[in-house]
Amino acid sequence: MSGELSSSGVKHVVILGAGFAGLELATRLSESLSDEVRTTLIDQGDSFSFGFSKLDVLFRGRSADDVSLPYRDISKEGVEFRQERVTSIDPEKRRVTTDAGSYDADILVVSLGADYDFAATPGFEEGGVQYYSIPGAERMRDVLSDFESGRILIGILGHPFKCPPAPFEGALLLHDHFVERGLRDAVEIRVVGPMAAPVPITEELSQSILGALGERGIEYVPNQQIVEIDTGSNEARFADGGSMPFDLFVGIPVHRVPDVVERSGLAVDEGAGICYIEFGGGKVGKVEANFFGGPKPTARLVGPSRDLAADKVEFAATRRELWFG
Ligand SMILES: Cc1cc2nc3c(=O)[nH]c(=O)nc-3n(C[C@H](O)[C@H](O)[C@H](O)COP(=O)(O)OP(=O)(O)OC[C@H]3O[C@@H](n4cnc5c(N)ncnc54)[C@H](O)[C@@H]3O)c2cc1C
Repeated sequence: MSGELSSSGVKHVVILGAGFAGLELATRLSESLSDEVRTTLIDQGDSFSFGFSKLDVLFRGRSADDVSLPYRDISKEGVEFRQERVTSIDPEKRRVTTDAGSYDADILVVSLGADYDFAATPGFEEGGVQYYSIPGAERMRDVLSDFESGRILIGILGHPFKCPPAPFEGALLLHDHFVERGLRDAVEIRVVGPMAAPVPITEELSQSILGALGERGIEYVPNQQIVEIDTGSNEARFADGGSMPFDLFVGIPVHRVPDVVERSGLAVDEGAGICYIEFGGGKVGKVEANFFGGPKPTARLVGPSRDLAADKVEFAATRRELWFG
């Protein structure tokens, strides 16, 4: 599995992740450089599905199988697909370890996408649904089929996230869904997010989205960071202390760097940080601040608890070892 062909002048390209990015790159390499490179394409899954195919599962009766494109069908000159899970990445040596072996690359490409951090929003897993994964879209489809009246709140739980328009297209398609069922007048749809505008980098698109939402009686509530889903009272709690009630909560999950990429040291998030606060009585709280993740810096308090006191000791010990060990 090593770069044994390097000696013949053929470069070994190892691409981690056969998603949008990995598939596109592997295809282009095959089409333009197949006599100069051989490519190993690694993904933990056995098939690809487009991000937007979740909407087909949610609203158009398509099954997970309908929208899956099996990797076994890849037939590109110079490209070999391996279904393996990447467990470690050494960027300096360009060495990758998977659950089945290891690879040495002349050129190593990391395109493992983003993971979802459901636990970052307390109450979300128990009290909400989502359509950012195929299993999530299947579950939400079932929940929707029983929903006949009430308040639907689409909450954008972190920023940035994949496909900036997706929360809003979800709202627009929900509108159509209830119109078709003759229930639109009985359903209120709102989108809440931390951004000042739907897609902050483009005023034009933001205005178009706001216009489309407005025509359908859907409100976008800007500049609100949801920090918790209260499953007892069915309310989304905001960082500023406010809250909003719902009958069905649809969340756009917090995105995060995959663990294996974080461990490799390749992802440096200079915008976020933590600090501990001693509360006395052996209890410690942790403030998680994010300076660039939203329209303005945010910070939330976790704890205080005795577990976090131990967390703090561990934090100091690992840094001591790292910097002075
Ligand atoms: C509802 C929705 C609608 C969208 N609509 C659009 C749209 O209209 N147009 C558009 O351009 N984009 C759209 N997107 C966004 C699009 O899906 C993403 O931008 C795109 O998938 C990102 O590509 P990527 O290659 O970086 O990551 P991904 O496509 O997520 O690929 C990452 C791959 O890495 C693999 N992987 C992760 N960890 C490991 C590991 N440890 N070992 C092995 N393999 C691993 C995963 O299995 C995955 O196949 C949408 C997304 C959603 C959720």
